[in-house]
Amino acid sequence: MNSNDCIFCKIVSGDIPSQRVYEDADTIAFLDIRPVNVGHTLVIPKAHFANMLETPAEVLHALTDVSKKIAPGILKAVGSDAMNWSTNNGRAAGQLVFHMHFHLIPRFPADGHKMWQGSDEHQDFAALAKKIREELGS
Ligand code: 5GP
Ligand code: ZN
Repeated sequence: MNSNDCIFCKIVSGDIPSQRVYEDADTIAFLDIRPVNVGHTLVIPKAHFANMLETPAEVLHALTDVSKKIAPGILKAVGSDAMNWSTNNGRAAGQLVFHMHFHLIPRFPADGHKMWQGSDEHQDFAALAKKIREELGS
């Protein structure tokens, strides 16, 4: 179930070269071509799913298992003991490639990358939580 227009499907098939660090029957991990930091790795299912919301739970479980398995080796290789593990879902969230992927980004003290900022603005959390629970039917 691959998509003809998808860069990552072409990486899976080998039509676009990549620096692979891990591969099994369902998953590959390869170095990001524009790394945030050295060792920035992408973990993807071989099958095409647009993003996390579209990806079946068992596929996400496999990606999580692989991420957990390979992260220590990546960190050791680049001399880091911290990382961000993230996924962008949708254009507004910064997703550029619409094939599910986890980013494993080694971090270094004072590497200058800023996390997003929380807000101290007053919000009606109780009403919002109720609304979400209603959506979830819980
Ligand atoms: P997104 O913003 O969709 O979460 O991240 C997509 C990531 O894919 C970016 O970090 C980008 O550098 C990486 N990327 C895009 N095209 C290629 C490619 O052809 N090869 C590799 N190795 N990484 C890519
Ligand atoms: Zn794809």
